[in-house]
Amino acid sequence: MSEQITDMEKIVSLAKRRGFVFPSSEIYGGLAAVYDYGPLGVELENNIKEVWWKAMVHDREDVVGLDSAIFMLPKVWEASGHVGGFSDPLTECKQCHTRHRVDHLLEAIEVFADEKMSQEEVQSLFDANKDKLACPKCGANDFTPVRKFNLLVSSNLGNFTGDWTKEPVYLRGETCQGIYVNFKNVLDSTHAKVPFGIAQIGKAFRNEITARQFIFRTREFEQMEMQYFVHPDDAMKYYEQWKENRMQFYIDLGIKSENLQWHKHENLVFYAKEAYDIEYKYPFGWKELEGVHARGDYDLTQHTTHSGQKMEYMDQAKGEKYTPHVVETSAGVARTLLAVLCDAYCEEEVKDETRVVLKLHPKLAPYKIAVLPLSKKDELIAPAREVVALLKKKYHVDFDETQSIGKRYRRQDEIGTPYCVTVDFDTLQDKAVTVRDRDTMKQERIKIDELVSFFAKKLN
Ligand code: ATP
Repeated sequence: MSEQITDMEKIVSLAKRRGFVFPSSEIYGGLAAVYDYGPLGVELENNIKEVWWKAMVHDREDVVGLDSAIFMLPKVWEASGHVGGFSDPLTECKQCHTRHRVDHLLEAIEVFADEKMSQEEVQSLFDANKDKLACPKCGANDFTPVRKFNLLVSSNLGNFTGDWTKEPVYLRGETCQGIYVNFKNVLDSTHAKVPFGIAQIGKAFRNEITARQFIFRTREFEQMEMQYFVHPDDAMKYYEQWKENRMQFYIDLGIKSENLQWHKHENLVFYAKEAYDIEYKYPFGWKELEGVHARGDYDLTQHTTHSGQKMEYMDQAKGEKYTPHVVETSAGVARTLLAVLCDAYCEEEVKDETRVVLKLHPKLAPYKIAVLPLSKKDELIAPAREVVALLKKKYHVDFDETQSIGKRYRRQDEIGTPYCVTVDFDTLQDKAVTVRDRDTMKQERIKIDELVSFFAKKLN
């Protein structure tokens, strides 16, 4: 009986133990809300990004890629509204000095603060519900007044005055601004015609107030964003198409559909036409995995106003000039990785032992195959190495000769390797190996010279 586990501690422990995710600067006590990705984590991350890029760029003719810089002129962030309005409401517990997001404290008692609310409005809502609130850390009911806290992270790039707070250059708060400001460059340098999209994967930085929930909410993270530029009349048609497309993406990654849902934004920012989030059922509740938003012409218009450069499209065939509307799909690499780990983590009782297995989609598995010589004797190591060389041309392959075969199978199960190939003494005679399937644990004997075509069928 295989059971999906929804215990966050088990996921965090496996991630650390097996080299997926480590706290940043751990030997010095750790930097809050920043994480490093270990040998297996970086493989899983890269596989997620590769699958996204293929689906969003390579498999389509209407989307091109971009890699814009993390640093941008501060004017970009003024135009986008981030300098003035990219903030979360903050309060501090006067007893234990833990900082909290007021909207999150209220959400826990089913009171919803609107993103657009002013500091005063959030304060009134907070005051009206204060009796029902308690600090999640110490239980006290003694909070400082609400303060809107800007999430942009500042730096001293190019500032040699010695005072870094003067004219800070921000680390980007989202990747999509790089897409908007390059809209004309892409249009002028390619044969892109509306409707078309620009996709980008890259780091973003936010001074998140609360640093909890592992890699779900971090201060440095990676986004996979795509802005699709459309004629204003077609915006909702393409919006619906992208909604369908993006939900299917997660199902194709092997995430169970019952763990995915749509969440509609009820209180839209004034420029948005419609906004939905794809939510995943994380161990700590349903939370945003990706946003799919119809943003109107807000972003291009803002950059036109602030830069003085017209962000328009000329439809030569129709003789029509207009500012395109944008459909945005915005996903986080870490939130996808966490969803994938939670969804794949299973515990099974096998011969009175608990087998932990990550049932990762083969496309995402850090190693596709592990080659395991039954003994450390040279006569088995040599042919095992030959099998590795044969398979490595196509797949990322692990080679493991330590401990008993049973322990090695368990280790590969725990890191989600779909197939183990065991080289034993019979291999020397029959030129065949035993292939074990991670999910069914079934084993079959395959001739070495048939291995490449066997895995081509199984893994491609
Ligand atoms: P939340 O409401 O959870 O703070 P958001 O609405 O601010 O998220 P967006 O600005 O829409 O998030 O960002 C798009 C995507 O980027 C999110 O769906 C998420 O996957 C990812 N993301 C945003 N903030 C973070 C973060 N602090 N850590 C990790 N991923 C993030």
